[in-house]
Order: sequence, then structure tokens, then C-alpha cells
Amino acid sequence: MKEPCIGRCEEIQAQLCTLFDPSTTPEQAREILAVIAECPHCHGRLRSEREIRALLQKCCNAEAAAPATLRQRISMQIREVRVTRYQG
Ligand SMILES: [Zn+2]
Repeated sequence: MKEPCIGRCEEIQAQLCTLFDPSTTPEQAREILAVIAECPHCHGRLRSEREIRALLQKCCNAEAAAPATLRQRISMQIREVRVTRYQG
């Protein structure tokens, strides 16, 4: 049985930065997103594009370095969640 990352949210949310790390593989990104999806707190964090952008600037500063494909993947994830929310 999967459990949300209770008590580990800071750790998981720190990995949001990893999502934008140019050296992060799609597999790693998928793993991180899977963990985040299990936790309402982390998922809420991921849902906030503004916060992700802030994270990028604060602790990653990798926006310019992130591969376009990876950034596109993340943007698509964000868009999917938004669509889901508006439909719900
Ligand atoms: Zn969490």
C-alpha cells in the first residue's frame, strides 16, 4: 500500500528542482512525479506553476539550461492537471 510522503514533503519538494535539472533522466522525473502524485501537499506544490517558476529561480536557476524537451514535458504535466481541475 502506497503512502503519501508524510514528513518527507520538504525532501520531495526539493526534488521538484531535480525535475528541471538538465541531467535528470525522464525515468527519474517520472519517479519523482509518481511520488508527488501520491501526496496532496506535494501535488499541490507541483500544481502551482508560479511556485515552480520561483523554485527555478531560487534553488535551481536552471531555466536557461534545462533541455527544451524536459521543460515541455513539465509544462504538459502542469497543463494536464489544470485541465483535470477545471473539469472537476
Ligand atoms: Zn508530500
